[in-house]
Amino acid sequence: MAVNRKSIANAVSGSGIRTGQQYLEGLRDDREIWTGGKKIDDVTAEPGMGRGAETLAKFLDKQHSTEFQDSVTYVADDNHRCAMAFKAPKSVEDVKARGVAYYEWAKWSNGMFGRTPDYKNASLMAFASAPDFLSQGTKGPGGAVMAQSMVNFYDYVRTNDKVLTHTLVNPAINHAQAAAGKYSGKVALQVVKETNEGIVVNGARLLATLGPLADEIEVFPSTVLKGSDENIPFAFAFAIPIATPGLKLICRDTYDHGKSNFDAPLSSRYEEMDAVVIFENIFVPWERVFMYGQPELCNQAFNATNAVVHMAHHP
Ligand SMILES: Cc1cc2nc3c(=O)[nH]c(=O)nc-3n(C[C@H](O)[C@H](O)[C@H](O)COP(=O)(O)OP(=O)(O)OC[C@H]3O[C@@H](n4cnc5c(N)ncnc54)[C@H](O)[C@@H]3O)c2cc1C
Repeated sequence: MAVNRKSIANAVSGSGIRTGQQYLEGLRDDREIWTGGKKIDDVTAEPGMGRGAETLAKFLDKQHSTEFQDSVTYVADDNHRCAMAFKAPKSVEDVKARGVAYYEWAKWSNGMFGRTPDYKNASLMAFASAPDFLSQGTKGPGGAVMAQSMVNFYDYVRTNDKVLTHTLVNPAINHAQAAAGKYSGKVALQVVKETNEGIVVNGARLLATLGPLADEIEVFPSTVLKGSDENIPFAFAFAIPIATPGLKLICRDTYDHGKSNFDAPLSSRYEEMDAVVIFENIFVPWERVFMYGQPELCNQAFNATNAVVHMAHHP
């Protein structure tokens, strides 16, 4: 399927790699993040969380340094300088260049900040490079539209250097039920309404690593769904901003207890945080929906797009 790169002027709205300061400013929005029973005002200033954001901000600044820029970024066809993990590999050299960039990012944290943005960027690149797979969609606006939406979203994230998290797993209230490939209609995230403009989703998902410190959340196919009609409401892939009204992230306890870099060299720097994600009747417009209503297609998504290969390339 041919995707239309010219129709996405609005999606290519950014100017490529961001600075750490731009990233931190972007986190100071209306996001609803909870920790220890209280709602956080500003994640960048929150004890136990803000220092992780500062670390990631410093990594983003490194994309601009002459020492690292050529190894961790590339100039895309639209002339934006973008993070290397967005580059769709067309040759052995491209694959090697991606590996060099991953290794560089990992070195900055001594391998201790697992969810650097290059991980999710790699998955997004793979999905956006597989329009033929996504165009098999037959529900909602149809596969061709959803495949184009995926490319538009990729271009938006790439050119705005957005930081992504993802949530893939339905909460299991009964392990026998989960083992049988079924999910609880009471707690698991599901589509509760479809309109001409999009879908309304309600329920919970586990477990967004970096969620409180990300810009956008990918809500992609869950662990294998039984290909039956009862699982149709649980089958989808979409993405929304973390600051979407009705989206709540409930954090685990922090490992950063405010100690100095000397006393706590790892937890004072590399607390990336994880959170349970609650969706309260959230409207998702079709332009942010990439797969819909087809459990068996959803089950193939990570393999058929090679997203799983590219995510595993990330150290
Ligand atoms: C580093 C890391 C990062 C991750 N990041 C993400 C991410 O970004 N997005 C995402 O979607 N997923 C992510 N995951 C996966 C996600 O965390 C898990 O899929 C999710 O937590 C599973 O939830 P669960 O409730 O099914 O199981 P668990 O969270 O494992 O909970 C099971 C609980 O049962 C307890 N238990 C086990 N056996 C017994 C027993 N016999 N008796 C009593 N209690 C028992 C365990 O102690 C545990 O507390 C990540 C996982 C890891 C390790």
